[in-house]
Amino acid sequence: MNELRWHPLLREWVAVAAHRQDRPQMPADWCPFCPGSGRVPDNYDVYLYPNDFAAFRLDNPPFAPATGLFVSTGARGATDVVLYHPNHNLAPSQLSQEHWRKVIDLWTRRTRELASHPDIRYVYVFENTGVAIGVTMPHPHGQIYSFPFVPPLIERELGSASEHFQRHGRCLYCEILQGEIADGRRLVVEDTSFYAFVPFFARWPAEIQICSRRHFGSLAELNQAEASSLAGIIKVVRMKYDNLYGFAMPLMMLVRQSPVKGEHPYFHFHIDFYPIQRSATKLKYLAGVESGAGTFLSDTVAEEKAKELRDTEPR
Ligand SMILES: [Zn+2]
Ligand SMILES: [Zn+2]
Repeated sequence: MNELRWHPLLREWVAVAAHRQDRPQMPADWCPFCPGSGRVPDNYDVYLYPNDFAAFRLDNPPFAPATGLFVSTGARGATDVVLYHPNHNLAPSQLSQEHWRKVIDLWTRRTRELASHPDIRYVYVFENTGVAIGVTMPHPHGQIYSFPFVPPLIERELGSASEHFQRHGRCLYCEILQGEIADGRRLVVEDTSFYAFVPFFARWPAEIQICSRRHFGSLAELNQAEASSLAGIIKVVRMKYDNLYGFAMPLMMLVRQSPVKGEHPYFHFHIDFYPIQRSATKLKYLAGVESGAGTFLSDTVAEEKAKELRDTEPR
């Protein structure tokens, strides 16, 4: 079964993809993402791999936005796997800046392609990394989910940004970035086009946001210099995370860009990192208060985590 069901209490769609349960347990000595597997080209730098067990597919029945009790609709969309590198054992932090640039170019190309599809309203680029996050495949990869609706957290950000602009005539994200720069205690690293900082309002331990200096909304608007700068700062952030405790940090990396339909001048491109390690030995779980009430309990202080990350290689 593959469909979207409306949650009338939370007013959001739930993607039911029951066939995901049938995902095969991979043999320990075989990886479909490795060159030579017969599933990918024998030579590749970066590669877009169709997800065999996708929650959203372009050949699913169309999505209808009408909501109500016991309402379901088609999960038309797309689900891609982005293979970062042919080397099975390379951590994302070990990819060179030049190689990260190739990953970013692939994200951008695929975003453009899907933006032109009439049924796609949001292209969501992200990565889950680490066994603690539930990733069973060590081969370095991320994913792209393309939704026929704007997902609720993006919708919420858009709402906040648009309301802030109406009230103050300024971009919410630009103002947050200026505040972080002026304060300075939570900055982690900066380069020509981007800043990385632990937000004042961080919910995850050592959470980092990468925010562009220039105001723009999506991957498709990155210029050449910005794309290379983004590749560099992603690499530095990833290296810092993996050096923080001396092992690969289990995390989510989330590319936040504006919806691909309509005008969204108040949205500002950023990338969020949610690491789930709250110390070298303890994980952050979303338990009763986070999952049931929607309020995060943060065990760490943004200013302290930012200092630890600044002091971690590469300095
Ligand atoms: Zn592999
Ligand atoms: Zn802005």
